[in-house]
Amino acid sequence: MEVHVAQKCGFCAGVKNAISTAEDVLQNQENVYCLGSIIHNNDVVNKLSDMGLRTVDEMEDISSGTVLIRSHGAAPAEIDKLKNKGLNIIDATCVLVKRVQKIAIELESQGYKVVVLGNKDHPEIKAVVGCVSDFIVVADEQDVHKLPTESRLGVICQTTQSPQYFSRMLAAISNHGFRELKAINTLCKEAIKRQQAAIDLCRKVDIMFVLGGLDSANTRKLAELCRRYNEQTYHLQNWSEFDKAQLGGKKSAGVTAGASTPEWIIAEFVEKLESYKSQ
Ligand code: SF4
Repeated sequence: MEVHVAQKCGFCAGVKNAISTAEDVLQNQENVYCLGSIIHNNDVVNKLSDMGLRTVDEMEDISSGTVLIRSHGAAPAEIDKLKNKGLNIIDATCVLVKRVQKIAIELESQGYKVVVLGNKDHPEIKAVVGCVSDFIVVADEQDVHKLPTESRLGVICQTTQSPQYFSRMLAAISNHGFRELKAINTLCKEAIKRQQAAIDLCRKVDIMFVLGGLDSANTRKLAELCRRYNEQTYHLQNWSEFDKAQLGGKKSAGVTAGASTPEWIIAEFVEKLESYKSQ
């Protein structure tokens, strides 16, 4: 099988920072917790768990030690509660996510109703809206009716959404109506580069594999985009999910991976897929 790897794929700077921070802390401290998965990739979470990182869903499950704030960030009230419990906080929030939080606070202080475009259940969005008191999360065009038409709207977007989504949503808001609109581009360039490289590649190959966690927003976004340009797109977590029936008659395959997918998952997949022709 002829295998091509997207020019840009895999770990981004924010994820690398979160993982190396976790590794450093785990080398020097015991009782290290992360509230929710440090990144949305089970292979990485399991590896760090083997090193001692305890992932918990509720802060009530932590009574002492150190808490790592993951790359998606956490709401200020949540961080305050952890501090009030006497826990040591290590913040591994991605700087680009921090920027979105800061912009949300600024927009609110300037009198705008903060409009966050994206998935309300994603931890990044939960952390961003936790920074302000007057906000609305809008997921898609059907949600735009929630917005007041006579307001000053300050619009920001989940970092891993696509430019196409952002512009589509701005158009929908414009059609709905507003008194004043201030939109700040909070998309992550790293995620956009991965999306563009994936689109370029899936136009050239017979089949496309998108590697990464099933709960990873940026990986799911990549898979969704690839499917638009190549119907033969499969989102897999790793090689163990590969099914040879997917390859039937195909000569060339493309491989890309989300920003939270480690290099070793990509390398193993590519190596095994390349050698597949001889089987
Ligand atoms: S995808 Fe972008 S915003 Fe998200 S962690 Fe990576 S660098 Fe930060």
